[in-house]
Amino acid sequence: MAETTIVEGGTIKSAAKGEVNWSPGSESRLIQLAEGYYSGVNFGLGNSGFVITDEGVAVIDSTVSPAGAEAVLAEIRKLTDLPVKYLIYTHGHFDHVGGAAVFKREGATVIGHRNVRQRFDRYSKLWEHHLAINAVQFRNTGLLTAEPSLVYPDIEYDTEYVFELGGRTFRLIHGKGETDDATVVYIPEDRIVYIGDFIIWTFPNVGNPNKVVRYEREWYEMLDRVLSWQPKAIAPGHGPSLLTPEAIRGALGDTSEVLQILHKETVEYINQGKSVEEAVLGIALPEHLLQSPYIVPVYGTREFVIRGIYHRYTGWYDGNPTHLAPSPKEAVKRTYVELIGDKAKVLDKARELAGAGELQLSLHVADLLIGDAEYAAAAKSFKAQTLLKLAENSANLFYHNFYTVSAAELRENKEE
Ligand SMILES: [Zn+2]
Repeated sequence: MAETTIVEGGTIKSAAKGEVNWSPGSESRLIQLAEGYYSGVNFGLGNSGFVITDEGVAVIDSTVSPAGAEAVLAEIRKLTDLPVKYLIYTHGHFDHVGGAAVFKREGATVIGHRNVRQRFDRYSKLWEHHLAINAVQFRNTGLLTAEPSLVYPDIEYDTEYVFELGGRTFRLIHGKGETDDATVVYIPEDRIVYIGDFIIWTFPNVGNPNKVVRYEREWYEMLDRVLSWQPKAIAPGHGPSLLTPEAIRGALGDTSEVLQILHKETVEYINQGKSVEEAVLGIALPEHLLQSPYIVPVYGTREFVIRGIYHRYTGWYDGNPTHLAPSPKEAVKRTYVELIGDKAKVLDKARELAGAGELQLSLHVADLLIGDAEYAAAAKSFKAQTLLKLAENSANLFYHNFYTVSAAELRENKEE
């Protein structure tokens, strides 16, 4: 099984089982960034950080669940009895806001960017959809089962929000990256940054196959801005903190550079009237970025970013007028199969291709028979088997989980 393992400050990154492991095992740990500054890793999906001042505690994100937030609160209580004054959202993704009610109960004022509200409203409206796509992305691991009780921010802001607590200045600065509602928390006195999911120890997840548009250009602009502050330590939204100048430059610099290259080149392809397929085949990354331990493609990938940028800047039309008002896919496939004149031959060809290692191509051929009354069961069985082989060859969470979940579904309904 292809397995990507990178050791960096004790971090193992692997998606061989369809999970991105940001730290070995599920052991939770508290990382101290500086006097009073902490980042809680593995208390739940999504880090939860906190800053202890003389006047109280400011918490940054709440993990995916109330259980995770309770565990972080227990860590805070080992260090101080002072009240939790604020909960700051780095963005509104479930894995960062799911435990918010715990800190709200403690009396925290919740602060988030203005767009968090729209995101929460959208989650409520499209709840069944989100449940379904996350069940595939996270392989039915029960990450989300019940609709979480979303805690809307008490304070919303647009560009920047500044407050003081215990002699420390908290600058909340809005940027766009993985989401349109992101906040970077910067404490200038100590040059500490809580950067949210602008850094997640993997290739940036622009172009997530199932999710709304993301912001590659604004993402690298924010990273460059953070670098210009010359931070001493940075807590990311997932994974261990960046505690040395080398790690900070490496993680922010490589993520910024890869997004700049993909943005610039993809925009050129778009302006040249080239298809997304041509861009995916034609745009390559320099060797030093392919080798970077900070942007291993176990989550986001080069291809997803290119597709995401096309999705962001262009419409759905691929330039082929056949596809402007296409015939139903099943009618097209039926016509091909009729033309071939022998259904068994189609399945034989799929098997032959798979046998020769052309797994992807074999799927296209097998798909011709998926809707066929006589051959559907055999075609689905072949497809499920092939998807599992593809999953075995992939160290990327999306490929692995999309293939394995679909294979299980095909096996369940092949008798239909
Ligand atoms: Zn996250």
